[in-house]
Amino acid sequence: MNPSASLLKGLDYSVVQQCMHCGLCLPTCPTYDATKLERHSPRGRIALMRAIADDRLEPTRTFAEEMYFCLGCLACMTACPAGVNYAELFEHARGEVERVGVLNNPQRRLIRGFTVKWLFMDLERLKLAGRALRLYQTLGLQALLRRSGVLRLLPRRLRELEALTPDIQPEFSAEMIAPVTPAVGPRRYRVALLIGCAQDLIFSDVNRDTAEVLARNGCEVITPPEQPCCGSLHAHNGELELARQLARESLRRIPPEQFDAIITNAGGCGSHLKHYRKLLADDPVWAGRASEWDRKCKDIHEWLAEIGLAAPAAPQPPLVVTYHESCHLSHGQKIVQQPRQLLRLIPNLKLVELTEATWCCGSAGIYNLIQPEMADALLARKLKYIRTTGATVVASGNPGCSLQLVNGAKQQGWALRVAHPVTLLAEAYRRGG
Ligand code: SF4
Ligand code: SF4
Repeated sequence: MNPSASLLKGLDYSVVQQCMHCGLCLPTCPTYDATKLERHSPRGRIALMRAIADDRLEPTRTFAEEMYFCLGCLACMTACPAGVNYAELFEHARGEVERVGVLNNPQRRLIRGFTVKWLFMDLERLKLAGRALRLYQTLGLQALLRRSGVLRLLPRRLRELEALTPDIQPEFSAEMIAPVTPAVGPRRYRVALLIGCAQDLIFSDVNRDTAEVLARNGCEVITPPEQPCCGSLHAHNGELELARQLARESLRRIPPEQFDAIITNAGGCGSHLKHYRKLLADDPVWAGRASEWDRKCKDIHEWLAEIGLAAPAAPQPPLVVTYHESCHLSHGQKIVQQPRQLLRLIPNLKLVELTEATWCCGSAGIYNLIQPEMADALLARKLKYIRTTGATVVASGNPGCSLQLVNGAKQQGWALRVAHPVTLLAEAYRRGG
């Protein structure tokens, strides 16, 4: 692919011209809901993208800012009767923004260069950074710094970002999960478990619980200790070429032909992982393997529903849980009922439905870092509805959402527990023996 060619002009025109301007997606779009401006709606954004593809508009700074104001939550795709592939349009539009570089300045270049193009291209680097952060936290330096008042000297935005620093897990996935976890009882399937990037640092316990639940349901679980980032961060932030590199690396290290399924427990990653074929469509070496990968790549809830799930033994303590739907699990992958079925299988667990369960919580990848005002408003809205359920636990199937909810509850001084559905199931299995 020619890196200087326009991505929107190169996109299949049937995707570009699919929108019929009906406006049915507008009420489902959080940015349109907040501003009531057409340019902040899916229809308005698609019109801008089409104007560029048709050579009627240049990718200007205003266009670029619009593309980064969009959450990429894909609620518009669920609402659209015409089947507009907004996910593809969005990725290409952000790719166009990065190609022309209208948002670039030295600071942005430095941050993107360090994070998206370096740290997340090799997860050993990310783990090294995670270990350093863990040391900083376990030695009490973070707490000391926060207590000392020194942080008040930082600019407001940096103080806000510091407050979002996640707690790093005492152990990462490779230290907690054996490369091969045998099935409990007869082996029915052989699966690979993807440990993710941020997930591995912040929620490696969810990976451990996923391996355990899979094993208890007849799966031999292969967890390669060294895995690449899936590339979702890169694709959603306009770096499609880097996303391709990472997809090839995943296919090389986890050959799909060796497994019955490739399991992810992160909704945001899964939504990208299932489209490697499209990403590598022009690559004659990898396109075939990518098709097999797409067929076998499963979200954990989806896979467990497919193979049939053993119910934990009763009795279990009473638990009131509500379920927040990750955008990329519900809108991106259309996985809606399976997490609820899993939760309802746990004896004595009462599932209280959440108002606006599918409305974005504001995490949206790194959206909460680059669009804090909109992200905070969405988080406040989400927490308000969670409170009305009376639940003590909110279940979420995506690490970005979980982190956002943990931070939001912490800011409100609220002891709300945020847990992956699989963790709740693993705990119930352990209690049940
Ligand atoms: S992805 Fe979300 S924020 Fe973006 S246009 Fe669609 S509904 Fe609106
Ligand atoms: S994206 Fe779909 S729902 Fe929205 S205006 Fe276009 S056709 Fe209608």
